[in-house]
Amino acid sequence: MIDNLKRLKAILAEETDLSRAAAVLDWDQETNMPPGGVAGRAQQLSTLMTLAHVRFTSDEVGRLLDALESEVANQQFDSDEASLVRVTRRDYEQERKLSPELVSEVAMAGATARPHWEKARRDADFKVFEPYLEKNVELNRRIADALGYAERPYDALLDRSEPGLKTSELEAIFGEIKSAIVPLVADIARNADAVDDRVLYRGFEPELQMQYALDVVGRLGYDLNRGRQDISTHPFSTSFGPGDTRITTRVSHGFFNECLFGSIHECGHAMYNQGIGENLDRTPLWDGASPGVHESQSRLWENLVGRSRPFWRHFYPSLQAVFPEPLRGVDEETFYRAVNRSYPSLIRVEADEVTYNMHVLLRFELETEMLDGTLKVRDLPEAWNSRVKSYLGITVPNDREGALQDIHWSSVSFGIFPGYTLGNLIGAQLMEKARADIPDLDAQIEKGEFAALLAWLRRNVHRHGRKFTPNELLERATGKPLTAAPWITYVQQKFGALYGLRAARK
Ligand code: ZN
Repeated sequence: MIDNLKRLKAILAEETDLSRAAAVLDWDQETNMPPGGVAGRAQQLSTLMTLAHVRFTSDEVGRLLDALESEVANQQFDSDEASLVRVTRRDYEQERKLSPELVSEVAMAGATARPHWEKARRDADFKVFEPYLEKNVELNRRIADALGYAERPYDALLDRSEPGLKTSELEAIFGEIKSAIVPLVADIARNADAVDDRVLYRGFEPELQMQYALDVVGRLGYDLNRGRQDISTHPFSTSFGPGDTRITTRVSHGFFNECLFGSIHECGHAMYNQGIGENLDRTPLWDGASPGVHESQSRLWENLVGRSRPFWRHFYPSLQAVFPEPLRGVDEETFYRAVNRSYPSLIRVEADEVTYNMHVLLRFELETEMLDGTLKVRDLPEAWNSRVKSYLGITVPNDREGALQDIHWSSVSFGIFPGYTLGNLIGAQLMEKARADIPDLDAQIEKGEFAALLAWLRRNVHRHGRKFTPNELLERATGKPLTAAPWITYVQQKFGALYGLRAARK
């Protein structure tokens, strides 16, 4: 046992190091690299990722797993060793099922489609992108077939990002969201004047915004001895191990929300990684449980904490001191309402808390239909536009602001979008339990104290890394599998109050 485990861990450590080296190159590309570096960087990344893949999918890893599975059979399900063998087996089987030819065809298709998607989006001309999307749908289908599935092809893709979750379960959850949120969006639209957010556009000095955001994320618990903040076009967080987890943000003089809420969001991701047990380092367990669980941490801090009234009761005086000009004559309540303004919009990444999940629902429906073959790629724009109209009540003027807006479908990546909504649901479900366990949580937040909340998340989520599937983690942390109820109640109450709506609809 000792020898097999030692040998497996040595291989996994090498694979982790190769992947982390690739992540450093990726971070550099997004933050510092001159434009001339693009071609060379693509080669370097491809070399490192290929080495990591070859190392991980070797026959030796398969033999070691075979031997270790019987050796750990008597260990606790959540022990480090049993978890390592179980999760490594899952990853190994998935990677081995995809032939090197299919993997390289998928990589090539993404690289080929990208410039055509960019042109199509620029010119708002879906026809330019259509043949490439057809190819990508076909490849998604081939991946699903290679991985295998019991009910629907989408199950195979979903299981890769959110282990254990079925398409039918997700359809039921989205159905609940739809019936609660479509009427709420309409109610808010009728009372749109109740919230005024013009203050956010009064002009905020970028340097001061960056400093303020960095100060806030430090107060929330982001450990800057093991992290840093830089600027990039698309904000992200990335980890090279327990000692180095970085975030990026962007800053706009003309719009306040981007920098601060972007920073809090990414710091939520980063604090998750900073909290993973060091005992799991340099193994496949040293990561978040899934993209959806990862997104729960960013959305929890960004929205459930950062857009809450107690948060602004604490921070507004210092914000006003840093920005006396734009905030002159603006009281805390007005500012709290402004950062929570909800309105139907065309672009997912700019959507507020209420409407955001409708954007994800739409993509999930269209992805599954294209994969099942019930929706033809050429009919996508029409299907998109009619659903935006029925879910959000607005008209899509062109495909740039419709079906062409996201980069995701330019590569072979079906199954990723649901994670964004799962993040909102899981965040609310965890927060509901954290509130029950920490009765004076709001009072603590009002005093600028976040340590108890962070400790709760560390104990129930972070330290476990990838040991558990999303539902296993939720069962352990909250006593229940994934449910939409806490999130639906949260938005109905919060936005019902903000917009002066009558008692939340059933
Ligand atoms: Zn995120």
